[in-house]
Amino acid sequence: MAAASLLSATLKRLQDKVALITGASSGIGECTARLFSKHGAKLVIADIQDELGNSLCQELRADAPCSFVHCDVTKEEDVQNAVDTAVSKYGKLDIMINNAGIVGVAKPNILDNEKSEFEKIVSVNLVGVFLGTKHAARVMIPNRRGSIITTASVCSVIGGVAPHAYTSSKHGVLGLMRNTAVELGQYGIRVNCVSPYLVATPLAKDFLKLDEDGVHRVYSNLKEAVLKPEDVAQAALYLAGDESKYVSGHNLVVDGGFTVVNPGFCMFPQSV
Ligand code: NAD
Repeated sequence: MAAASLLSATLKRLQDKVALITGASSGIGECTARLFSKHGAKLVIADIQDELGNSLCQELRADAPCSFVHCDVTKEEDVQNAVDTAVSKYGKLDIMINNAGIVGVAKPNILDNEKSEFEKIVSVNLVGVFLGTKHAARVMIPNRRGSIITTASVCSVIGGVAPHAYTSSKHGVLGLMRNTAVELGQYGIRVNCVSPYLVATPLAKDFLKLDEDGVHRVYSNLKEAVLKPEDVAQAALYLAGDESKYVSGHNLVVDGGFTVVNPGFCMFPQSV
């Protein structure tokens, strides 16, 4: 390979790939869309925030083709349409990022939790991921390749740091990821999760009622570094690209060691 094309392959890791990202009008999804676009991916941004999504798309078209589709991930026809848009506009779907999510309100006492509120969170965070995975698989199976990535959370592996419905939904997507990684492996399709710790997006700031600095001051295990949406986007980029060609069924936790320590009983006191 000539030096110039080798450099461009290194710089543009998603050249010729088509990616669909749900919940990409804001936060982690938006940042992932920006990074994927810089790496040459043709993008479909799917969200319920049309204005933000459309203006992001317009901006990203400077780097690579980008389309916005209104898509409520709880509605099968919307998810089906978003996937079909990727195929009709760009010819295929290589990467599906199930990222749309909501957290709900903090009600630590289960007796205060309403069934309808629980179902709403599960509907976006788990049923939405089911629909995204199903319809992505529908168009990836004939091509016998693809990468499906779900933005889960540290709440996919530990309890006690978010509302009951949120933690349940994030544990749920981990199970779905593992089951579908087993099933879809026969078609060359990889399925993985990225599980971030706290990131100062609108979701986290609204939930914690803190500004960006406030979110950054919340306890973390790894000092001297702050988790940014870009760090989560980089993890998704790894799982989306060919660098991870043999990685499937994996939960890539991006948490600075948060989920492997119990600060209440830690033999390294300087770390808590
Ligand atoms: P965000 O609120 O900035 O972005 C979420 C996006 O999802 C928004 O654009 C919103 O419009 C969209 N969305 C919400 N409901 C939707 C629906 N029904 N259909 C389609 N789109 C919908 O939040 P974020 O922090 O960037 O969250 C992205 C993902 O990251 C979520 O799955 C969240 O659970 C996960 N996550 C966030 C954090 C954090 O601390 N911010 C940590 C771990 C995991």
